[in-house]
Amino acid sequence: MDFETLIIGAGAAGMMCAAHAGPGVLVVDHAKAPGEKIRISGGGRCNFTNLYASPQNFISQNKHFCKSALGRYTQWDFIALVDQYQIAWHEKTLGQLFCDNSAKDIIAMLRAEMDKAGAQLWLQTDVGDVAHDGSKFTVALTREGRTRSVTAHNLVVACGGKSIPKMGATGLGYQIAAQFGLPIVTPRPGLVPLTFSDEKFKPLAGVGAPACVAAGDSSFDEAILFTHRGLSGPAVLQASSYWHEGETISVNLIATHDLLSELKTHRQTDGRKALTTVLAQYLPSRLVDFLKSELPLDGNIADQSDAKLESLCQYLADWQLTPAGSEGYRTAEVTLGGVDTDAVSSKTMAAKSVPGLYFIGECVDVTGWLGGYNFQWAWSSGWAAGQAIADR
Ligand SMILES: Cc1cc2nc3c(=O)[nH]c(=O)nc-3n(C[C@H](O)[C@H](O)[C@H](O)COP(=O)(O)OP(=O)(O)OC[C@H]3O[C@@H](n4cnc5c(N)ncnc54)[C@H](O)[C@@H]3O)c2cc1C
Repeated sequence: MDFETLIIGAGAAGMMCAAHAGPGVLVVDHAKAPGEKIRISGGGRCNFTNLYASPQNFISQNKHFCKSALGRYTQWDFIALVDQYQIAWHEKTLGQLFCDNSAKDIIAMLRAEMDKAGAQLWLQTDVGDVAHDGSKFTVALTREGRTRSVTAHNLVVACGGKSIPKMGATGLGYQIAAQFGLPIVTPRPGLVPLTFSDEKFKPLAGVGAPACVAAGDSSFDEAILFTHRGLSGPAVLQASSYWHEGETISVNLIATHDLLSELKTHRQTDGRKALTTVLAQYLPSRLVDFLKSELPLDGNIADQSDAKLESLCQYLADWQLTPAGSEGYRTAEVTLGGVDTDAVSSKTMAAKSVPGLYFIGECVDVTGWLGGYNFQWAWSSGWAAGQAIADR
């Protein structure tokens, strides 16, 4: 069977590419349904883009690589498509756009766009050997117990990263890249809760607080959530993408107010109150109890010297924590690293060394922040490859 273009992966990027790649497209996926990650994303409402998406919100060894695709297919283009299908949406916070109704509306929209373009979709299809004779790709596909060879002029690898194997993530994209001699930036879990070996935060499980979390040279001012095994919440998930094993993170628990001057005021007005009682006005009381094991918090607020209050506030503004690890691919929202962008054209997403071979979406070394950026990369890179293939 001969096709113009074979796309491996009916996820966000693969479906977007199929809608734009011109005639003769076959999309294959081993899952039972297309767009499974879209379906579960954003708590079932899909945070499909971000009003403020720009190249600064992406992590890659080459920070310039994402500019071309993001600049040519923007969040406004995707919003226009969503509007064309009359899918109602709202901004939740920080520019994050969600469907009012269901993430399934986005999947249905992409399926309709694929149908309009005449693309075929084979689900529950296993991908076997991939070969290239210099002009055409031959791929062994097994479906309903039958294996057949499919040939195509273009092969688009859109099979995502390694995150959430239970949902069908396999890392096949990296294998295909390696087969064709393309370098890989070592993949690692991103947007993932961090763990602590001694389960020190177990007594705090379920406690949340606003905080600014810094890892490497990036910091995120959102919320943190203590879990049985460590730390989660948007600020921690964001920072996790910048954290490397063995490194320390800094948590600022008092980023939103000038605690020192407020404590000094309390010292004058509520001197007989316990320091812990006053602190519990600013931090969750279970966290204050926990901090008693790390800090001298005895006595009334009136008993605290300026120096003691200063060192307390310094500690709370720069709580140094060394995670033992992360929850890994089991729960990571994305995979950092992937196909090295040096080997791929930023304009077309084509491998520079193999004509007709394309890599799009999460399998490429471009990873977005939390907040709709990863889908925007899938839409933009899928569109860029689709355009290039249609023009070819
Ligand atoms: C729980 C969760 C929530 C998320 N929420 C958001 C959100 O709200 N906003 C946001 O921007 N991002 C979100 N993300 C990230 C986002 O889902 C991904 O970045 C995006 O789906 C990547 O698109 P993709 O097309 O590259 O890969 P995917 O969407 O993962 O698609 C890859 C496809 O390839 C198929 N495949 C894989 N291996 C094989 C194989 N060997 N053979 C055949 N087919 C294969 C898979 O079945 C899948 O259909 C979330 C991720 C998770 C896990």
